[in-house]
Amino acid sequence: MEYVASLAFAKEQDQKDPLSRFREQFYFPQRNGKDSIYLCGNSLGLQPKNVKAAIDQELADWQQCAVEGYWGAKNPWLYYQQYCSKPLTSIMGASQQELTVMNTLTVNLHFMMLSFYRPTKQRFKVLMESGAFPSDQYAVETQVKFHGFEPKDAIIEVSPRPGEQLIRTEDILDIINRESDSLALVLFGGINYYTGQFFDLPAITAAAHKAGAYAGFDLAHVAGNIPVSLHDWNVDFAVWCSYKYLNGGPGAVGGAFVHERYAGNRGFLRLGGWWGNEESVRFKMEKGFVPKDTAEGWQHSTAQVFNMVSLKASLELFESAGIKALREKSIGMTNYLEFLLSQIKGINFEIITPNNCNERGAQLSLLFKDKGKEIHQRMTDAGIIVDWREPGVIRVSPAPMYNSYQDVFHFYEIIANIASNA
Ligand SMILES: *Cc1c(COP(=O)(O)O)cnc(C)c1O
Repeated sequence: MEYVASLAFAKEQDQKDPLSRFREQFYFPQRNGKDSIYLCGNSLGLQPKNVKAAIDQELADWQQCAVEGYWGAKNPWLYYQQYCSKPLTSIMGASQQELTVMNTLTVNLHFMMLSFYRPTKQRFKVLMESGAFPSDQYAVETQVKFHGFEPKDAIIEVSPRPGEQLIRTEDILDIINRESDSLALVLFGGINYYTGQFFDLPAITAAAHKAGAYAGFDLAHVAGNIPVSLHDWNVDFAVWCSYKYLNGGPGAVGGAFVHERYAGNRGFLRLGGWWGNEESVRFKMEKGFVPKDTAEGWQHSTAQVFNMVSLKASLELFESAGIKALREKSIGMTNYLEFLLSQIKGINFEIITPNNCNERGAQLSLLFKDKGKEIHQRMTDAGIIVDWREPGVIRVSPAPMYNSYQDVFHFYEIIANIASNA
C-alpha cells in the first residue's frame, strides 16, 4: 500500500478499520487534559472497561455464596482457569488440554524447567538468545546451579554477528547442530524484548528436537501480539505473562502451554499440588499424586480468581475481535509507523527491529546514538507514553486492540517537531 504522511490519510485508515469500535472499550491515561498517545502495550496493556463489572461479579458471588461459590457462583471458581484457557486456544494455536493459566511468568518458567530441564553429565546445556530478558537469565542461571552445573559451562548464548543488531536464524540452527551431543534445552524469548525480533519458532523447535533437546519459549511479547501455532509447531512448552498485549492488568495470572505428548502423560515428572491432581479423586484427600492428563496437571494451588478475572474479561474482547484480524491491523499500523519514521530528519536514530513484518510484532525499537533519554523526556512531556530501555532504546508499540492510525500519526507529528527543534 502507498502510505501518506498526513492526518487525512490516517483518518481514512481508521474509518476503514473493522476493529475501530474496540478503542472505546478501554481507558486511556489522561495527559495534558486529554487521552495520552499510549504506545506502551508491550509493557502494560490498557484497562478494558468490562473489567470492573467482572470483578464486581466475583465480589458479589463471594458475598452471596461464600464457599458455595466454587460450584455455585455465576462462573464457578473450581474451573476458573478454563474461562481463560478456552479463548487462549486460538491465540496460542493449541487445544484447551494443552493450556492453562496459573502463577506468574517467571514462576511458570521455573516449574516448566523442573520438568523439561533435567540435565545429565552428558547433556546439560541450555541455549538462549544473548540479551534475553533479565528474569529469564536469572531463572536459567539459578536452575543450572540448582542442578550442580556452572553457568559458564552450561549456558550458551547466541549473539548477533559483530556490527549487527539481530540474531540470524542460521546461526541459531548452526549452534544447536554443533552442540547436539550436550544440549538439553533450547529456551528462547519468542520476541526479544529489546530489539523486537520475532524468532523462527518452528525452525528452532525442529532443530532442537533433531539435536535431542527440548524446545521451550517465553512468549511474554508474543501472547496477544502475534498468533502462534504451538501445537502444530511441535513446541514442547511455553510460558507467558498476561499484562502486556493481553491486557490482563498488573501482575495478572501467567499462562503455560505443554504439548499434548507430555500433557497427556501422567508419568511425566513435575512438582505436584492438589489443583493439578485428577479431579475425580482430588477431594478424596488420599495419598498419591495423580496428575490431570492435561496442562492443568502442572497447577498447584486453588484458582486465584481475583488474579484471573481481569484476564477473563479482556479475553472476551480478543474472542470478539479475533486474533487474525488483530494481527492484520497490527501489521498495517506498524508498517505505517515505520514509513512515518523514515520521513524524519534531524535526529539520529535507527530502527533495530527487523523490517520484514513476518519477523516482528507490533513493536519497533528505536536505537538512539545520543540524546535518547532527552528525546524520551520530550515525548513524555508532549503526552506520549512509550518506554525507554537501557542502554539506548525507545520501544514504540501500536496495539491493534485499542490504538489507531491517528495515534501513530500524532506520535510522528510530535517526534518530527522534536527533530526540527533538535
Ligand atoms: C515481561 C517479561 C518477563 C516478566 O516476568 P514476570 O515473572 O511476569 O515478572 C519475563 N520475561 C520476559 C521475556 C518478559 O518480556
